[in-house]
Amino acid sequence: MASRTIQRLATRLANQIAAGEVVERPASVIKEALENSLDAGATRIEVDLEGGGVQLMRVRDDGTGIAEQDLPLALARHATSKISSIDDLEAVGTLGFRGEALASIASVSRLSLTSNADGTGSSGTTATTEGRDMTVTLAPAPHPRGTTLEIRDLFYNTPARRKFLRTEKTELGHIEEVFKRQALARTEVAFSLRHNGRVLHNLAPATDAVSRERRVAQVCGTAFMEQAVALSRESGPIALHGWVGLPTFSRSQADLQYFFVNGRVIRDKLVTHAIKQAYRDVLFHGRHPAYVLFLEVDPRVVDVNVHPTKHEVRFREGREVHSFIFSTLNRCLADLRPGDGPATADPAGAEAAATGWAAAPGQGGIPLGVPPAGGAGYGPPMNQANLGALARLYGASTSHVADRGSAGAAPAVEPEPEAEIPPLGFALAQLQGVYILSENAQGLVLVDMHAAHERITYERLKGLRSDTGIKTQPLLVPQTVAVSAREVAVAVDMADNLRALGLLVEPAGEEQLVVRELPIALIDTPVEALVRGVLADMQAYGSSDRVRAHEDELLSTMACHGSVRANRRLTLPEMNALLRDMEITERSGQCNHGRPTWVQLGMSDLDRLFLRGR
Ligand code: ADP
Ligand code: MG
Repeated sequence: MASRTIQRLATRLANQIAAGEVVERPASVIKEALENSLDAGATRIEVDLEGGGVQLMRVRDDGTGIAEQDLPLALARHATSKISSIDDLEAVGTLGFRGEALASIASVSRLSLTSNADGTGSSGTTATTEGRDMTVTLAPAPHPRGTTLEIRDLFYNTPARRKFLRTEKTELGHIEEVFKRQALARTEVAFSLRHNGRVLHNLAPATDAVSRERRVAQVCGTAFMEQAVALSRESGPIALHGWVGLPTFSRSQADLQYFFVNGRVIRDKLVTHAIKQAYRDVLFHGRHPAYVLFLEVDPRVVDVNVHPTKHEVRFREGREVHSFIFSTLNRCLADLRPGDGPATADPAGAEAAATGWAAAPGQGGIPLGVPPAGGAGYGPPMNQANLGALARLYGASTSHVADRGSAGAAPAVEPEPEAEIPPLGFALAQLQGVYILSENAQGLVLVDMHAAHERITYERLKGLRSDTGIKTQPLLVPQTVAVSAREVAVAVDMADNLRALGLLVEPAGEEQLVVRELPIALIDTPVEALVRGVLADMQAYGSSDRVRAHEDELLSTMACHGSVRANRRLTLPEMNALLRDMEITERSGQCNHGRPTWVQLGMSDLDRLFLRGR
């Protein structure tokens, strides 16, 4: 190869290279522009697009503006007003700080930046760049206080990039997604989005709980808001709030998942895993939960300078964050009870947040933690094989699991005329041996009795396990597992955590572990895959849900066999007893497989069926 002399890159070329990282498509430009407007304290941001953003993107704000003498710097690389020392970077409070977005965008498009930093008057200045040195030219231009960024012909001078552009519709879709994220993150700011002259979004500023929920509904759809619960929890320096979709509002794609860390939208493996784990027990296989969640932490414990587009962050205390997110969502989902309404604005939320649960449901007058009402049983006693299995697993007395089956013996909870109607109402009849029909205050309730009983039994079995802990058994022949040196190190580091899961694992060489003890429940599970999986989790998230997940599966199977089968006739008292148990059982809205256990047909739903009141 011919040797070449070393030359300094021309400014434009250097900026075009930097643009390779941050400017992938029109949506990347909109992301940077919106972030700049928000950093400038804008209260109103208008986005105008043509041709999917490729022809034109115009972002106008009413923020602080840029003084005329600063305009050339705004378009220069490595120039920012947001940080000036490494200490600032440690605790950065603005969305931008790298000082390269505008320079990069300007190098691959025809860009003009018009601004007025003067609170009075309307005399602004427009800045454009020219040539390989990107010399900035200034010219007077009328503009109220604030800034307008205009970008035409994105990638006109970089054919390689232009080739990767997709259809107008696809590019617009990406822009809308970016727009929605910022609209969710900053509900107090007014946003509008127009494409080819058509208004796609026009969002009024939201200042209170009700209008914030309206904003979320406008961005995520009313169906989400109707089937989401609000949550809010704060614990020392970390807080989480937002909305999570009910398990039955799951999606076939992971396309309604918004997670913000200190107002910045991020995609993070640790976060996704914690949320998935919280939904594990209630979500139908292969479905994805929907959520809009905001995590607030001290900016010092999260590093946002990990990636040029800042889509990723690094938490200093990853384990704590994982466990906080998991436990918050897990509790929230477990506490859902029949009768809990959808998310509603809760003015007391902010106040209650300090102590724990705020807008979380459960204020529906359901006596949590009260033993099953009445005393009427339903369903078969658990068969002896299951009971034996349970006793072996947990070494516990299983009587209170078993003896709920004396069908119909005890008196029922009678519907007293004066008494308040319970959330799932009083049973009217049984349909085809499969569904229970019940009347409550809203109208008709339909219950899949097998699915419901399965969940109740399952939750009892889980309760039993946590009462007695995990029982372990030494392996007759300890099993060696070939792993990497890194995994050996994790196993040694996390020996106590593994022990708590019932796994006694010791190093047996540089790349070998020996498993001496396992939870009894998992004695038939392939050891190698289990240990590897657990170690991988521990390394990535600081904890592992695998042992529990395997056990839960087993309990779920047992619960399924021990539950009332279809086609079994129940008496009204038995049905009422089942309804009362559902009301106090965690996660009773879904069966063990994530299918709904009951549905409400309100009077208005019924009226609609009969075209009444039209
Ligand atoms: P960064 O946001 O990382 O500082 P940018 O290249 O995005 O880098 O912007 C450079 C500078 O231009 C910013 O630091 C800011 O001072 C100024 N600026 C850009 N957009 C705006 C805006 N809409 N309103 C006010 N100032 C802006
Ligand atoms: Mg910026």
